[in-house]
Amino acid sequence: MNLTDTALFRQQAYINGQWVGADTGGTLAVDNPATGVLIGTVPNMGAAETRRAIEAAGAAFPLWAAKTAKERSIILTRWAELIVQNVDDLAVLMTSEQGKPLAEARGEILSGAAYIQWFAEEGRRVYGDVIPQPRGGQRLLVVKQPVGVCGAITPWNFPSSMIARKAGAALAVGCTLVVKPSDLTPFSALALAELAERAGLPAGVLNIVIGDAAPIGDELSFNPIVKKITFTGSTAVGKLLLSKAAQTVKKVSMELGGNAPFIVFDDADLDAAVAGAILSKFRNAGQTCVCANRVFVQEGIYEAFAAKFTAATQGLKVGNGLDTGTTTGPLIDDRALAKVERMVAEATEKGARVLTGGTKHALGGRFYTPTVLADVTGEMSVVRDEIFGPVAPLVRFKDEADVIRLANDTDYGLAAYFYARDLGRVWRVAEALEYGMVAVNEGAIATEVAPFGGIKQSGMGREGSKYGVDDYIQLKFVTFGGI
Ligand code: NAD
Repeated sequence: MNLTDTALFRQQAYINGQWVGADTGGTLAVDNPATGVLIGTVPNMGAAETRRAIEAAGAAFPLWAAKTAKERSIILTRWAELIVQNVDDLAVLMTSEQGKPLAEARGEILSGAAYIQWFAEEGRRVYGDVIPQPRGGQRLLVVKQPVGVCGAITPWNFPSSMIARKAGAALAVGCTLVVKPSDLTPFSALALAELAERAGLPAGVLNIVIGDAAPIGDELSFNPIVKKITFTGSTAVGKLLLSKAAQTVKKVSMELGGNAPFIVFDDADLDAAVAGAILSKFRNAGQTCVCANRVFVQEGIYEAFAAKFTAATQGLKVGNGLDTGTTTGPLIDDRALAKVERMVAEATEKGARVLTGGTKHALGGRFYTPTVLADVTGEMSVVRDEIFGPVAPLVRFKDEADVIRLANDTDYGLAAYFYARDLGRVWRVAEALEYGMVAVNEGAIATEVAPFGGIKQSGMGREGSKYGVDDYIQLKFVTFGGI
């Protein structure tokens, strides 16, 4: 890996301001999904190291919470600036461990920095209330206090920004944090910790543990010092963590899986809809929680959309994300590739037509050819489940009522997209979609200034915006009598 600042490539965990290995000395290998070549190793930690990280975060909490919001804001702002200054190295690191094209890696890193910067500012606006007293001689206040030590568990598909979103909000309001990143992509997380240290974050405020997910997750879930679990990942693991966090009644935020509908109505701007669908579907090789999973196209525009969308899909360039011009990198691991192959095989057996792709890519390894499937129906798994790969299933629909029913027929409720120009239809559909986020005539949805999150089995809680701090705050009501 070619980094200007090689100190950003950390191969140890970060506990209480120290770079440390596992108690057993055990390590985990991390490879480059584009080449299968080993990048480096990280400690294979378990419950004992996690407990130490939690205790460090517990000891650091009173001091960090006692700082003024402005003092915390200054450190977080410096952290965001350092991330921006090091974006080139951080992008190489991310592409090497995760596979996404360099331009997308840069975009993710800058987005993470923007969340931290946003929360550095928002942390200074955590106001309480004065409530008009119901009786004489009283004063009633509501104060907002940090929840305490938080445990954050994050996925591999956005290895930097998923941590930045959580850490920005948590640290800005005075919480301390133990983060467990995915062991598939730990280096982006460790580089963030290195920059946080350089920014002046005190020891123990941010800790990173890496290793065996179950014992680390259990320690975070059951340890009474931890007051909140914030998780981004699959719905299955989210449910597990919810049940475990219940044992000590922890506060929880869950950013879980999605099954986003992407709807193209007859009155849509066809070229804009094609561009939006390409962006939404194929970004990160289709491995995003908010990516279009099912593309519903109204019958009057179906053939025209399918032709243009297929041509645009054929224009994507599959390859190593470090190579210039690559738009579509590899899938994260062999399991992900096998899942995509299985889903496409099932769809074609049930009658779906391959308009382009439909096979592993000629490059071999973990590369899959960007694929468009036509004549897809509701009983196929490409429509029912998260594909998490570069496969776009096209489903034909008749009218508005028909597509609202189809789009909402899922346990997920994260993001939805639609293209239409009729004003009445735009309002009706935006209101009828049972999703936490709806994009109208846009293919991208995340920004630090707006609340990101899902409903139904896509989770609870919001990241970003003025609402993003609420998940790391508890309310205290104080009443004064005898006045
Ligand atoms: P995953 O649930 O397999 O893993 C997420 C994290 O949980 C990883 O760090 C993993 O090591 C850890 N983990 C796994 N088993 C655990 C256990 N028993 N106890 C504690 N931790 C455990 O998900 P993934 O494959 O890394 O990520 C893809 C999923 O994440 C997709 O479903 C995607 O939709 C979702 N996601 C959601 C959002 C969102 O904001 N809603 C964002 C990105 C990804």
